[in-house]
Amino acid sequence: MQDLTLALVVGGGPAGSSCAWKLASAGVRCLLIDKAEFPRDKICGGVLSSRAAELLTNSGMISTAELDRLTEKTHRTLSLWNRDELLSTYTSDNHPIRIISRMGFDNFLLEKAASSGTEVITGETVVSIDSSIIRTSSGRSIRYSFLVGADGCNSFVRKTCFGRSGRKTGIGLECFLPLSEVNMSDGLHIHFRYLPYGYIWAFPGREKICIGAGVVGSKVSPPDVASALKGFLETRGISASKYVMKAASIPSLSLHKSMGAGQIFLAGDAAGLVDQVSGEGIGHAIESGFLIADAIISGGDRKTMLIRANKGCFGTVRQSEFYRHLLFSRLTVRLAMRKLKESETFSRAYWNLISGSQSYNNMFLRLLTRSG
Ligand SMILES: Cc1cc2nc3c(=O)[nH]c(=O)nc-3n(C[C@H](O)[C@H](O)[C@H](O)COP(=O)(O)OP(=O)(O)OC[C@H]3O[C@@H](n4cnc5c(N)ncnc54)[C@H](O)[C@@H]3O)c2cc1C
Repeated sequence: MQDLTLALVVGGGPAGSSCAWKLASAGVRCLLIDKAEFPRDKICGGVLSSRAAELLTNSGMISTAELDRLTEKTHRTLSLWNRDELLSTYTSDNHPIRIISRMGFDNFLLEKAASSGTEVITGETVVSIDSSIIRTSSGRSIRYSFLVGADGCNSFVRKTCFGRSGRKTGIGLECFLPLSEVNMSDGLHIHFRYLPYGYIWAFPGREKICIGAGVVGSKVSPPDVASALKGFLETRGISASKYVMKAASIPSLSLHKSMGAGQIFLAGDAAGLVDQVSGEGIGHAIESGFLIADAIISGGDRKTMLIRANKGCFGTVRQSEFYRHLLFSRLTVRLAMRKLKESETFSRAYWNLISGSQSYNNMFLRLLTRSG
């Protein structure tokens, strides 16, 4: 058995890599294990909010030039739709939203973690966790001082150490089409009301456009999500059967209140840190990874970590659990659509939310005081 005093990070997505990078950069002995061989793909719309971009560049994990190289396209324009009726098109002067390819982006972040001194093992699955020891699919046993579960929506660490992962009714389904196949104006497109508590998106990258459908905290079944997406494509003369549809679950109403306990921490999707309106999770994964690293560096200070998380990623997701009803519930959805159509204030507010430049509480207060 390897007998090391170390921080063991399970998962090499944005949460795990950012945590490991910060730990190793501070001189903490760190080992990261991922079951996949990298580069690996991740089902995702590829939207990187400006807040997520700033977290990466302000921390020094990656430079702006490196981020620019990873960016397929930068968007400033968002069109919001009530099914197929255009409500508004908003163009932002600041806080651009980037489209990245998860394959290259996640691989780059993992390389950054490795170059900061993290030992990285890929192609091995963590299969058991007992008091301070994990075992992997190759039979390796590793003793840890701190364990970080950054192992995604179906987190093994969370299930094993804290029981079931809460409600998991969220699902996303998407396909990538050549841009030439699609007749849509440039910019990001969000179509509400094809699905309750969810939307259909179209996010253009450099050569392809990601079109997908997602719901969180909704009773809609996966086949219903698939048929909504097929209907959307077919209305636009696109044969859905020509393209590979890939689905993945999205954490839904499953925040872990303390992001773990004792020496075990949960980051990113494993902690349920996905916005329940927009489905954004990359920025929250990175932020939680950094916060957990700081807690471990300071010897396990969970209290400060939670105070900071409440002001940041954790607070945002909790607010989104509340505000999603204003946008999606049967009682308010028509009013919300009307407001988005009538006033640019509302489409700007939506942009500010998805770019991460404004919190839900701030947005709501401003809307209340402005819209009268
Ligand atoms: C359809 C869809 C579209 C989305 N679009 C967006 C978007 O446009 N923008 C956005 O911000 N967010 C989006 N999200 C959410 C985003 O993808 C996640 O929030 C984000 O990937 C979370 O990062 P993470 O590091 O926590 O987990 P992940 O990126 O899922 O990484 C977890 C890692 O853990 C590894 N792992 C799992 N189990 C084990 C184990 N037992 N042992 C070892 N390794 C293990 C996996 O191989 C994986 O590499 C989308 C999600 C879906 C489903």
